[in-house]
Amino acid sequence: MLNKNHPRYQSLVYRDKIVKAHENGILADSGMIAHGRGETFDYLIGEKTTYNSQNTIDVAACYFLTSKNPVLSVNGNTTALVSEEIAQLSDLLDIPVEINLYYRTPERIVNIEKVYRDLGVKNILGTDDDDFIDTPDLDGPRSPVSIEGIKKADLVFIPLEDGDRAEKLYALGKDIVNVDLNPLSRTAQTSTVTIVDNIVRVMPALIKSVEKYSDYDNSDLQEKIDKFNNNVNLDTAIHDIIKRFE
Ligand code: ATP
Ligand code: MG
Repeated sequence: MLNKNHPRYQSLVYRDKIVKAHENGILADSGMIAHGRGETFDYLIGEKTTYNSQNTIDVAACYFLTSKNPVLSVNGNTTALVSEEIAQLSDLLDIPVEINLYYRTPERIVNIEKVYRDLGVKNILGTDDDDFIDTPDLDGPRSPVSIEGIKKADLVFIPLEDGDRAEKLYALGKDIVNVDLNPLSRTAQTSTVTIVDNIVRVMPALIKSVEKYSDYDNSDLQEKIDKFNNNVNLDTAIHDIIKRFE
């Protein structure tokens, strides 16, 4: 039992989710290490959504609302922490959830698929009966993408992703929206829009933002997109961390 009075109770709740996902065959061993790296950066960021991150979340919402074929690419960590919100966003935008794993095994695919099925997601791609094509110049089991999903997509949401894959998807001319607590990671540096914040805070805020901006004209959404510069965003995120040391 977790002690609710523990000063770091929230952080322990998320660790518990990670451990349970590992026990339930959803998360690979290395997913636990990736979570630890995320926790470190969250400490540095102050465990809150900054003004800059909220603006970036709003820009991401504008991208979702102006793209033709957005896809939500999910892995073990994302599923462990925010499967409910992924299902909500998929429903809200009527877009597919595609499973893509660095350490792909048939068991993990089935386990993750079941999580999203149970949450009512209609369009789940990336399962073993899907039609795949390899991502050019990318090795390993994360290379295959669904022909109906990421292959066709103009916008791919890849939270908590490895840099290699982000680079290769970006090179295909797709817009990449990424969530990564580390503003220096290769994924952060190569994405179109990098939300430097914890996925557990980002998803509820992103859903709210999509709801808000769905009433806006396309030209207003485009204006917000055009004003955004990911290099400035990353610089601001890094300076927000530096300020915490002053
Ligand atoms: P890259 O491959 O992009 O250079 P990396 O090798 O350091 O990065 P990976 O393990 O490939 O890291 O990817 C996991 C990323 O997810 C890490 O940058 C980590 O900070 C981030 N991360 C982990 N947990 C969270 C979380 N809860 N919210 C947001 N980001 C997270
Ligand atoms: Mg990596």
